[in-house]
Amino acid sequence: MNITTLSILQQEYPKLMEDGIIQSNVPLKEHCSFQIGGPAEVFCTPYTQNQLLDLLRFCLNHKTPYFILGKGSNLLISDKGLSGIVISTERFTELTVEQEYITASCGVTLKDLCNYACENGLSGLEFASGIPGSVGGAVFMNAGAYNYEIKDVLHSSVCILPTWESINSLSPILYLKVEEHNFSYRHSVLQDKELIHLSSVFHLKRDNSETIKRRMDEYQQKRQQKQPLELPSAGSVFRRPEGFYTGRLIEDCGLKGFRIGDAAISEKHCGFIVNLGSATAKDVLQLIQHIQEVVYEHYNVKLQTEIRFLGEM
Ligand SMILES: Cc1cc2nc3c(=O)[nH]c(=O)nc-3n(C[C@H](O)[C@H](O)[C@H](O)COP(=O)(O)OP(=O)(O)OC[C@H]3O[C@@H](n4cnc5c(N)ncnc54)[C@H](O)[C@@H]3O)c2cc1C
Repeated sequence: MNITTLSILQQEYPKLMEDGIIQSNVPLKEHCSFQIGGPAEVFCTPYTQNQLLDLLRFCLNHKTPYFILGKGSNLLISDKGLSGIVISTERFTELTVEQEYITASCGVTLKDLCNYACENGLSGLEFASGIPGSVGGAVFMNAGAYNYEIKDVLHSSVCILPTWESINSLSPILYLKVEEHNFSYRHSVLQDKELIHLSSVFHLKRDNSETIKRRMDEYQQKRQQKQPLELPSAGSVFRRPEGFYTGRLIEDCGLKGFRIGDAAISEKHCGFIVNLGSATAKDVLQLIQHIQEVVYEHYNVKLQTEIRFLGEM
């Protein structure tokens, strides 16, 4: 537990402590889909924009490292945990609809967003219904599946520019039109500028709720057939190299089922590494390096990781 960070936080922002949004020594394995990772020294769950801004102000003023956590479905977190402050968006869950536009806060799960769109007879997000992330994480990553990406349905976003000048000014909020997100494959301007996503507006099309539900179910069935959803993972470990299917490359190298400790290449989809029970971040990292070496030897293809690494590995 980082007494200093906590005690200074308590001294400077007693209201944040009273609001009950701050905990210490929280196991991060309980906050990510891999179920791997040591503790966060300080773990915060703000539910208002002002609480989030206060936390960021504290971090920037004290040069305390911070990390914005969505649903933790694209992360490998260090076994040693994280120093500084982890700020979870899980309590930003607002959803509203106006005509063909849905506004969703950063912590809304894609599942809830897609169900909400379906209930309101709005189509376009079906592809995302099985992606186990939050809206913030999906915009940050330009998440995609079945030839669609978040960029195809996004209208605009509201973000925070987390620089010292901005946070301590009267207007730390940025409004981004879709074209200002600089989207490309699993990339957005949020990554380049370390912007913090607050909410997005999605522009959808009218359709029949039953038809939308049927499409979502079809996509979900495909996922269940092809992906090891029964085991903890962080989804596809690697970015798709141009002209190749990552899972096929790994399988053709004879690596199906290969494991280091409790981290294994999925038997069902070789692009996934699964946690068989008590895998460590170190196991996963060694397995990733092994896959990269073997695939490079066989096919001269350099696999780049899609999952993000957090903390000292
Ligand atoms: C079984 C499985 C299947 C998957 N299938 C797909 C798929 O089909 N397509 C796909 O694209 N991905 C897929 N993924 C990966 C993952 O779900 C996506 O990348 C998702 O968008 C990550 O969202 P998250 O909320 O979990 O983000 P996290 O994992 O919590 O964070 C990922 C990154 O986003 C940043 N971030 C999160 N929220 C914010 C915010 N509010 N502001 C700024 N930055 C933020 C974090 O800081 C971090 O750098 C899959 C994962 C699993 C486990």
